[in-house]
Amino acid sequence: MTTARSISILGATGSIGDSTSDIVLANPDAFHVAALVGYSNVEKLAERACMLNAKRAIIADERHYKSLKEALSGHAIDVAAGRLAVIDCASEPVDLVVCAMVGSPGIEPAMAAITAGNTIALANKEALVCAGAVMTKHAAENGVRILPLDSEHNALFQVFEEPNRESIEKLTVTASGGPFRTWSTEQIKTAKLSDALNHPNWTMGQKVTIDSATLANKGLEVIEAHHLFAMGPDQIDVVVHPQSIIHGMVHYKDGSVLAQLGMPDMRTPIAAALAWPDRFEAPQVQRLDLARLANLTFEPPDLQRFPMLKLAFDAMREGRAAPALFNAANEVAVRAFVDGRCAFHQIATIVAKTIEDAGGGTASSVFATLEDVLAADRLGQRIANAVVKDRLYS
Ligand code: MG
Repeated sequence: MTTARSISILGATGSIGDSTSDIVLANPDAFHVAALVGYSNVEKLAERACMLNAKRAIIADERHYKSLKEALSGHAIDVAAGRLAVIDCASEPVDLVVCAMVGSPGIEPAMAAITAGNTIALANKEALVCAGAVMTKHAAENGVRILPLDSEHNALFQVFEEPNRESIEKLTVTASGGPFRTWSTEQIKTAKLSDALNHPNWTMGQKVTIDSATLANKGLEVIEAHHLFAMGPDQIDVVVHPQSIIHGMVHYKDGSVLAQLGMPDMRTPIAAALAWPDRFEAPQVQRLDLARLANLTFEPPDLQRFPMLKLAFDAMREGRAAPALFNAANEVAVRAFVDGRCAFHQIATIVAKTIEDAGGGTASSVFATLEDVLAADRLGQRIANAVVKDRLYS
């Protein structure tokens, strides 16, 4: 790579932000950092902005504007705050926008980046889940490429032969199975927050870790793959692979299966996305030693014990508003679980009840614009909050 490219990182203080920073620092001539966006962690955002020599630092929660300003006083770094500043930042023309904000608040900035014609590296799976059809259409119209950052989708991206798309039979997304892979239904009913946060392979943020325990994360990823690769709902499946070494597989009609392998370390898919179509160095990543690992095992997912995965497949097949409702209800239910307002296994009952009460995919008669997506998100949140508050689940 000869000239440095400009990059903005939305979600710079989360775990994807950490890994992205490592890759940017390991390839110092590749990028100059236009802007960093954090949600509320002022100290980390300020420190990172200095470390990466960013031009701007933006805190999404505007209550922290003053403290960010103070933390960066004396530095030549512009400071801004609030939702509109985040959208503004995403719209600023750069070579690459890393979209790694958590949950549905990441939708608008990702859409704004696309509107501006910015290539996006997307880790915010909720954006594609809720706005999939709207977002991929918008990207195609603006000639914008969406580079997947999620490890499974980045794996698929690496082995998906676009010119041979017609020869692809199906995609497989692998799942670690999470901390409750071997737990019975009865045991899962007793799961505590600390159990759910105890992921065997990956270190991630709280929301995605709990989603990995319910397998909602895998459900979101299936819907994400459906949109990213324009494959039908019946062309995507999930296999549980507890070692998390194979991240995704593309099955071709000649019987060939191409897989991407690597240690479970987000810096590999991030390096692959940031460097694309070239390759970067990721010196911090432990190298894969298959002989030492000895065993890679696989099993089908259990939709009975993990109903969130089944609900996600149903929402994907139903389409339109259903995935946005699934996602919104899940966000509310996970928060309720974290706050001790529902049990772990009730996350699924809250989500199922919300989708049912909202009328599923038909909740919105037209589903074609960002406004429709945001309306479905609000509807899902409102109903799910009522379901939690009135304990309309069991
Ligand atoms: Mg993933």
